This record gives sequence, C-alpha cells and structure tokens, in this order.
Amino acid sequence: MVGFLDSIDTEEEEEYIPAKTFIKCMECEEALVSREYNEKNPIGACKCKNINIGIHLIENGKFTHFVTVKWEKTPPEIYEEELENDRSMEIMDTQCC
Ligand SMILES: [Zn+2]
Repeated sequence: MVGFLDSIDTEEEEEYIPAKTFIKCMECEEALVSREYNEKNPIGACKCKNINIGIHLIENGKFTHFVTVKWEKTPPEIYEEELENDRSMEIMDTQCC
C-alpha cells in the first residue's frame, strides 16, 4: 500500500492547480484518476480488482484527504498528467458546485 497527497505543494504564489495523478493497473491496464476519489466517492477499483483505491481523511487545513492505493498482485504504475493545455479544464473542475 502507498499513500500520497493528491495536491503537491509548490513554490508558486498563484493558486496551484495540481495535475491529475493516474494509477494504472499493470494487469488490466485500466488507469484510475486519484482526484476522482474524495469524501463523496471514497473507494474505487480497477476492472480486474487488482488495484483498490481509498481515501484517508486528514485535517490540517490545507488538504482534506490522502488517496491510498492497495494492490492484490501487481503494483500499479503511478504517474502524473502533463498540465500543458489542460489548465482551463482544471479550473472548470474547481468551480463545480
Ligand atoms: Zn486491474
């Protein structure tokens, strides 16, 4: 099992919009997106159930939760999306609700 913060702190002064973090199952090749998991949607799994996603709530003001990843057989590949041309979509996401 690994745990990590879905948001990564940076030196930037402006509001930081984190890249999506993908957790890719090496068995069925389904890629799960860590930021899709939150208090309202706390658990997930890939098609073959090798990878199980959960969240671990924390309260320090800056972050609301860790995303945790467990696996049965094969560790996932974890990587971040390049932001590049995706900033406008990221901002749309944060304005929801
Ligand atoms: Zn799988």
